[in-house]
Amino acid sequence: STMLEVSGLSHRYGSGESAHVAVNELSFTVETGQLACIVGPSGCGKSTLLRAIAGLIPPTAGTVSLHGDRVTSVPDDLAVVFQDYSRSLFPWLSVAKNVEFPLRWSKLDKATRRARAAEALAAVGLSAAESKYPWQLSGGMQQRVSIARALASRPALLLMDEPFASVDAQTRFELEDLLRRVQVEQGTTVLLVTHDIDESVYLGDRVLVLSKSPARIVADLKVDLPAQRD
Ligand code: ADP
Ligand code: ADP
Repeated sequence: STMLEVSGLSHRYGSGESAHVAVNELSFTVETGQLACIVGPSGCGKSTLLRAIAGLIPPTAGTVSLHGDRVTSVPDDLAVVFQDYSRSLFPWLSVAKNVEFPLRWSKLDKATRRARAAEALAAVGLSAAESKYPWQLSGGMQQRVSIARALASRPALLLMDEPFASVDAQTRFELEDLLRRVQVEQGTTVLLVTHDIDESVYLGDRVLVLSKSPARIVADLKVDLPAQRD
């Protein structure tokens, strides 16, 4: 079934003389359970597209639907992981509390929220760091916490914007493998934006290639076998 439908989506920053069309009439769908990567040159509108899908910025034209429902604000069955992990975690909350934080707005009781957070931290291999604070962790571990937090809400759709671009190569490999494993185990639908073709082919079962701005979809590739690392 179709998880995400993006139809004629446009986003323009500013107005009048200074108006800049960052996304121009893009359309595509993502099937449930797919790990779709969007790859394209810097500045072609990838982040803007992702933020519009997330309901964080309003499209100037077109629509976004999540399992058939039109997205007009940030939907509660969607989670986003950004590149900048250092700004996405609360420094005054422990790792466990950070992961639990978004669940406050769910209907889950306290014990269930705790269990969910613990489970998500276990999935990213960070059970031992539960009571630590973000600043006590390496960058790669902080991004793991961000991923755990996104997974804890069991989102129907996980949006990721260059999630591994700010970590060193070794950590990036680890996090890519982690994402692939968790995605298969939990069947999460993922849409991941990257400027790194290698990463898109390693991670994605589908790769959408965007041209430079104003971006068009110049290729929509099905990746039959996951790439292997040497
Ligand atoms: P990408 O993620 O592919 O690098 P972005 O979506 O970040 O591209 O940016 C697309 C274009 O929109 C770029 O030209 C960028 O400078 C511009 N842009 C991004 N954010 C803003 C903003 N808040 N205000 C004005 N222009 C922006
Ligand atoms: P990325 O390429 O990783 O998407 P950018 O470096 O394009 O990120 O943008 C970083 C931040 O700066 C974003 O929040 C974006 O909205 C903002 N930004 C980018 N270009 C512009 C611009 N021309 N005017 C105002 N803000 C911008």
